[in-house]
Amino acid sequence: MVRVFVFDAQGQLVGPVESPRVELSDNQWQQRLTPAQYRIARNKGTERPFCGTLLDNKQHGVYSCVCCGLPLFSSDSKFNSGTGWPSFFQPIASGNVAEHPDFEHGNVRVEILCARCDGHLGHVFPDGPDPTGLRFCLNSESLVFTPNDKLATLADHSAEGGSDKGHEHAKQAQSASAGAAVIGSVAAAVFAGGCFWCTEAAFEQLEGVSDVESGYAGGTKQTANYERVGRGDTGHAEVIRITYDPKTITFDRLLDVFFDAHDPTQLNRQGNDVGTQYRSAIFYSSPDQQRSAQEKIGQLTAAKAFPRPIVTTLEPLEAYYPAEAYHQDYARQNPDQPYVRHHSLPKACQIRERYPELIRKGK
Ligand SMILES: [Zn+2]
Repeated sequence: MVRVFVFDAQGQLVGPVESPRVELSDNQWQQRLTPAQYRIARNKGTERPFCGTLLDNKQHGVYSCVCCGLPLFSSDSKFNSGTGWPSFFQPIASGNVAEHPDFEHGNVRVEILCARCDGHLGHVFPDGPDPTGLRFCLNSESLVFTPNDKLATLADHSAEGGSDKGHEHAKQAQSASAGAAVIGSVAAAVFAGGCFWCTEAAFEQLEGVSDVESGYAGGTKQTANYERVGRGDTGHAEVIRITYDPKTITFDRLLDVFFDAHDPTQLNRQGNDVGTQYRSAIFYSSPDQQRSAQEKIGQLTAAKAFPRPIVTTLEPLEAYYPAEAYHQDYARQNPDQPYVRHHSLPKACQIRERYPELIRKGK
């Protein structure tokens, strides 16, 4: 089994789910693939530059494995590298693309493969653009493109097969990883500042922030869903989990943005949103984060930065549960929705004006 992200019947990327590895004989692969696909994806071939059919594809959608259909890259991370091969700066989900050092050409290169069927995709090089600095160099023949309005056709039975079990797994895995403050050079911060659509939009534009996910923290697994949390009695707060590179942006700077992106003096509410699920809170996952948060509140209080006392709570992060897929990237997906237009986007703009040095270049 492999742990990967797949599309469900609604065309939403879900996971990680357990999916069986796809292992076929050479004969079976030859029957399933064209000669060119077989040569490249099963025998580690390389197509000639500027000849691949997907090089100039500018449509929005998803690139999947030609062998087993696993989603691998999104058009959101495609860029023109000038090399003649389709290039991306990150996979659609890190577990879906495997990496192996390749010694075949004298110097070491890192080969990239489909994590589910070991299909050869290409190589990854450390000379890509922001935000990852990586260039995933692909063969068109290893990929199948599906436009965004057809993503439901990629529905993978791993997404439904005992869906409850799959989802519980997904949540457990995610909350376990959120418990670690720093994984390699990647760190996570979990903040509650009212409606998560607003805070998400404010942080997504920051340099060094690789992901902002909406979720719930403070309550149990059983009640970690939007409908239940909305009743206000679960202990959960609507939170965002920010994945960031601490070498580029510090936790302290994230705290600055956090305190400007919401009103930390309102107890259990933000504007018209009332209830403990809209409380202002910092869910710390290490003693360092706890100390930094205490110091920041002390500094802001001493500087009389707000006309009323700060009521932000500091709570240990016991578990984090990702919100339903339709909440993720809500502001970007729904820029014309009245709430987003009146609350989320102005807040993101305000942060952009106040901290120009923190905003990702080219955004
Ligand atoms: Zn595959």
